[in-house]
Amino acid sequence: VTEELGAAGSEVLATLNRVFGYEAFRGRQEEIIEHVVAGGDALVLMPTGGGKSLCYQIPALVRPGTGVVVSPLIALMQDQVDALRALGVRAGFVNSTQDFDERRTVEAEFLAGELDLLYLAPERLRLDSTLDLLSRGKISVFAIDEAHCVSQWGHDFRPDYLSLSLLGERWPDVPRIALTATATRATHEEITQRLNLPAARHFVASFDRPNIQYRIVPKADPRKQLLAFLREEHPGDAGIVYCLSRNSVERTAEFLTANGIEAVPYHAGLDAGTRAAHQSRFLREDGLVVVATIAFGMGIDKPDVRFVAHLDLPKSIEGYYQETGRAGRDGLPSTAWMAYGLNDVVQQRKLIQSGEGDEAFRRRAAAHLDAMLALCETARCRRGQLLAYFGQEPDATGCGNCDTCLTPPETWDGTVAAQKVLSTVVRLQRERGQKFGALQIVDILLGKRTAKVIQFDHDQLSVFGIGKDLEEGEWRGAIRQLLAQGLLAVEGEYGTLVLTEASGAVLRGEREVPLRKEPKRPAASRSRSA
Ligand code: ADP
Ligand code: ZN
Repeated sequence: VTEELGAAGSEVLATLNRVFGYEAFRGRQEEIIEHVVAGGDALVLMPTGGGKSLCYQIPALVRPGTGVVVSPLIALMQDQVDALRALGVRAGFVNSTQDFDERRTVEAEFLAGELDLLYLAPERLRLDSTLDLLSRGKISVFAIDEAHCVSQWGHDFRPDYLSLSLLGERWPDVPRIALTATATRATHEEITQRLNLPAARHFVASFDRPNIQYRIVPKADPRKQLLAFLREEHPGDAGIVYCLSRNSVERTAEFLTANGIEAVPYHAGLDAGTRAAHQSRFLREDGLVVVATIAFGMGIDKPDVRFVAHLDLPKSIEGYYQETGRAGRDGLPSTAWMAYGLNDVVQQRKLIQSGEGDEAFRRRAAAHLDAMLALCETARCRRGQLLAYFGQEPDATGCGNCDTCLTPPETWDGTVAAQKVLSTVVRLQRERGQKFGALQIVDILLGKRTAKVIQFDHDQLSVFGIGKDLEEGEWRGAIRQLLAQGLLAVEGEYGTLVLTEASGAVLRGEREVPLRKEPKRPAASRSRSA
């Protein structure tokens, strides 16, 4: 057996050298490949850019038969197959973009045993015709890429993935390898169960991306902050800027272009031709910035993305990690930069409450958001927090390559400030039966006689003007942090503030509230976008 494994081992390395032109395996690639070559099932959890593709491509080349790759990324199949063909690998794909003749040709190649790799979209495997075709050929390995798409909890759920459990039943002797970059322990378990892979060996790579510097800054004037960041740190670099809405994608791309930074928009509202053109420009040109919604990026393999910037808060840590993970695949220093503010918290909480889905769905969405907020508000190492989220032991001394390690944030005792905010919310509700959003609360605390304050007689409240000791930005920061800590909640479509169960302890003086210090803002800016 040892001899056999040894022989497979050298063949595996020889294939890496000869076909792919790489000298050595990375991380656990070799272990994974040898396990699959020997016929074992595997679940591979590896961050984006970690080198998952080789984990099934080499077994497909080394084992007799065709490796069948299930992938939801139809738009990339042509590119993947072209790239493999350029290396002399006999690869083909079957999907809905092909005409009848093209499909026929690929099918004939498969049946004749002339394909090393066959890429299929998951919906194909629901068709009897596809299953029939597969059973008439010889299959070396099944690879299920983006395996987290089987998870109903995740944001990429594809119902067609559920039918992939039948592969093991129909082809019990063909090894299966499921791969994903998104994986908390709950997701691993769901993948194992739904894909029916109880005997699969789990290969969990480190999720650390040491060359990515994580930074999260308070949002003041996000586009200007972005521009300054790009000019100071990434002039001429390629990167991705993520925004939540199509509208803000468009406006940000225009803003950057008007300020001398070449940027193109990318979102699902653009026609397919424009999207494809912008994507291929990004891949081919140097130093282009793509401003995009999260529709952009899945499966994009551009090694020299120097920065990923977020102008809006991602909905979960998984999303944040996956999006920022598109930076620095070449291992060179890169930046994950995000501007985050009070409105992000309010917006996202509102979205969850008014969004579709049942109570359980909302609870999960809220838990995802809470974890994301905790990352934003932490005074400790960001990388440590990220890794801990993925079940990995962080470095106790900090990473030295995130903002909180580089410039540890100051904290202050925000108990009294928190009490002032909470009492204002309570007064409005108890004395007036009113609920207001953060802007009005801050104006009341600062004692500002705005039109809206006068209109509602809020200058008559006993709390009017009790917060002159802090600046507007500091109050906004305090409210943002109270929301993140669950000491305050957002309600309804206007995002009004209400107390939570935990608020009482703060009001009664039973609980202290440490807060991060907000960096001082330029005095002139009274931006309400934060
Ligand atoms: P993933 O699918 O995990 O995001 P890929 O399989 O696309 O990652 O690999 C990312 C990049 O790393 C690709 O450009 C790939 O060619 C390269 N790569 C993978 N394995 C190796 C290796 N052993 N040596 C050198 N480059 C590698
Ligand atoms: Zn750190």
